[in-house]
Parts: sequence; structure tokens; C-alpha cells
Amino acid sequence: MTHRTIRSLVAGGAGFIGSHLCRALLDRGEQVVCLDNLQTARPSNLRDLQGHPNFSFVEADVIDPLPDHVTGQRFDRIYNLACAASPPQYQADPEHTMLTSVVGTDRLLRLAETQGARFLLTSTSEVYGDPEHHPQREDYRGSVNCTGPRACYDEGKRAAEALSFDFARLRRAEVRVARIFNTYGPNMNPDDGRVVSNLICQALSGEPITIYGDGSQTRSFCYVSDLVAGLIALMDSEIDGLEPINLGNPNELTISELLDQVRAITGAQAPVTRLPLPIDDPRRRRPDIGRAQAVLGWQPRVGLAEGLSRTCAWFADELAAPGEPAVLSCAAE
Ligand code: UDP
Repeated sequence: MTHRTIRSLVAGGAGFIGSHLCRALLDRGEQVVCLDNLQTARPSNLRDLQGHPNFSFVEADVIDPLPDHVTGQRFDRIYNLACAASPPQYQADPEHTMLTSVVGTDRLLRLAETQGARFLLTSTSEVYGDPEHHPQREDYRGSVNCTGPRACYDEGKRAAEALSFDFARLRRAEVRVARIFNTYGPNMNPDDGRVVSNLICQALSGEPITIYGDGSQTRSFCYVSDLVAGLIALMDSEIDGLEPINLGNPNELTISELLDQVRAITGAQAPVTRLPLPIDDPRRRRPDIGRAQAVLGWQPRVGLAEGLSRTCAWFADELAAPGEPAVLSCAAE
């Protein structure tokens, strides 16, 4: 029996998670079209993908009509990762953020409908807002401030979920919805303002380390290869598409504890600068991944110490001047 090559469209494929997803899909023999507006993505994330015979890149914004040379192709699978995801970046142009989730998801769902393709939305733990239930299960409806500065992202993703589930309910498209919790690893943008990239880059370059609030707020960090394996398992799965699935690492720690780990790995003793906690910053966050374990047989494998060491080593290379050795070697390398 001959198997037809799977053709996947990855919207947001030049971003941090998207670039790892494109690589993983190519590695399993798929044809990949990456569509990205390069708003927050790093073109260098595509460096090792360009030139692969099964890879092509289209610069386009999902809030605009999709280019004819994209809609004219046949896709079996459509992954929607298109959206700025770090708080400073998604708040920089909130209208664009909201439209990216809502209009972009609608355009891609319609393409999936026309083509009979399976559609996967990357939603977010932000749909739980500042949660009153802990850890967060998929049936928790969340506590989002719909008038606050995070709403453009949170409510945009909630609307994108609603749209996706309506397409599924009406049998217009087969959909999968992943709720992604904090993720880290190589290909993060050093300037994206997120805690892992900030702390590592500050530690490596000897700058003061910025801690917002008293550092007692918690997050649970998932290494990017684990997250991508979860996305592909979800796309592959034959589950009823009418339920979202949390993807993340349930290992919860405070931001102060994260700093201790970064310091242990980098050996850096840079001083801490305390800054105000951003408005609506969630106090606690930890995924309940029982559904992913039961339905997908998926769970993260890479522990925080190992993942942070790999990420630090990558940032050390990234921050080094061309041709120069890494800025500061990581203790764990
Ligand atoms: N944070 C911090 N210092 C930084 C960046 C972020 O203390 O330089 C805190 C932030 O207030 C939040 C947590 O780290 O409580 C995670 O922030 P991030 O922006 O990475 O993602 P979020 O989970 O808030 O979307």
C-alpha cells in the first residue's frame, strides 16, 4: 500500500513553537507550507528549514485574505499558531492581536472546510485568566478580565475556540484545540519580554535581573520538544474534536525558584531589580494534564534543569557576536 505524503499548512510557523513544529513535521516526511507575517517571528528561525525540499515559506498575515497561491494548494492539515504570544508583544497592538485570533482563525477554518483538512487551533492557558481553580482542568471556565490589557489575547483566543467548536459542531471542519501552557526553549526571541528569555539573557549578559512583584507567583514550564510532540499527537488523534486539551508541564514553581535555577545553571550573580507586577498577572498556573495523558498517551519528558540548560546554551550562542565564543558559558554545558 502506498501512503500519500501529508501536506500541512503551519500558520505562525516562523515563530518559536511554530519553527520547531515545522522541523518535526518535515522530519516525519510531511510537506510543510509555513505562513507567517514575521511580526514577532525571527527569520533566523527558518534558517535550517529553508532549502529543505519539502518546505516552503509564504510571508502573509492571517488577518488579510489568504494568498491565492496558498488557497490554491491542497492541505490535509492546518495548524494555527499565528499570534503574538508574549504579554508585551501581544499588548503592543491589541487590535491586531484580537483580529489575528478571530479573523485569522475564521480564514483558516474556512480553508479547512473547503479542503476537507483537519484544523488544529493553538489556544492558551490564558483562557483560564487569573484562575480560582488549581490546577486548571479543561472544564474550568476561567476568570478572564474582559476589559483588561490581557483581554486582546485571552478573549481573542476564547473567541477562536468558540469559532472552532462551532465549525466542529456543524461538521464544517474536523477540529482539535490545544491549550498551551508556558513553553520555553531554543528559538525564543531574546527580546520577547517573557520570563525565561529575560532571566536567561539578563543572567548571561550580567544585567540586573527583572522580577515582577515579589516573585511568589507561579508558572509551570514545558520544554518545546515536549509541547510539539503533544501538538502532533493531538493532530494525529481520532478524538472527538469537541473538547480542548491542555498541553503543558505540571511541574509548578515560583518565579523566584525559576531565578534560582537560572542562576545555578549560568553561575551568574547579577542583582535583582524588582518591578511592579503587571495588571491581571495570573497568581498561579499549572495544567491538569490528565486528559492529554488519557486521550493522547502524552506527557512531558524533559525536566526543567535539563531544558533550562539546553536553552541557556542556545541563548549563550545566540547572544555571542558572530565569530566570537559564547558570552558566558553555561555551568551545565
Ligand atoms: N516576569 C518576571 N520578570 C520578567 C518577565 C516576567 O518576573 O522579566 C513574571 C511575570 O510577571 C509573570 C511570569 O513571570 O508572573 C511569567 O511571565 P511571562 O511574560 O513569561 O508569561 P505569562 O505566563 O505571564 O504569559
